[in-house]
Amino acid sequence: MSQRTVSAEKLQEIRELAAQWGKIVAHRAFGDAGPGLEIDFSTLEQIAGAATAGLTEGTLSTLLDQQARSLPEEPACPDCGCPCPVSYEDRTLTAKGGQLPLHEPVCHCPDCRRDFFPPPDLPASGQPQLQPRRGRDDR
Ligand SMILES: [Zn+2]
Repeated sequence: MSQRTVSAEKLQEIRELAAQWGKIVAHRAFGDAGPGLEIDFSTLEQIAGAATAGLTEGTLSTLLDQQARSLPEEPACPDCGCPCPVSYEDRTLTAKGGQLPLHEPVCHCPDCRRDFFPPPDLPASGQPQLQPRRGRDDR
């Protein structure tokens, strides 16, 4: 998938897939018999909320990890163009629907004494980007 946005059809397809997983979650939560009448709606919402948070975490973790693995070994510094090694920092990312642990790639340019988040340049054709391309300073 090389486009920057996802089509409405693709999003609908993903939603329908997740709805099928919801049936699995419901079965795992209450078995074949389903929830008893003593279980209130708020409790059912808690289960759906936990499923949503887990789905968000799993989806974003996988996608961000795939993006990080497609980075060049030594991305170029956005200022001087010098190849810089990638290291990783762990932090918590807050996203729509929850939080997830993030193993974030960070580069440090020893010449410019600056940190930057790769990729500073356009990735190879067809590769996703972690952040939009930064404009040149001399425009
Ligand atoms: Zn530099």
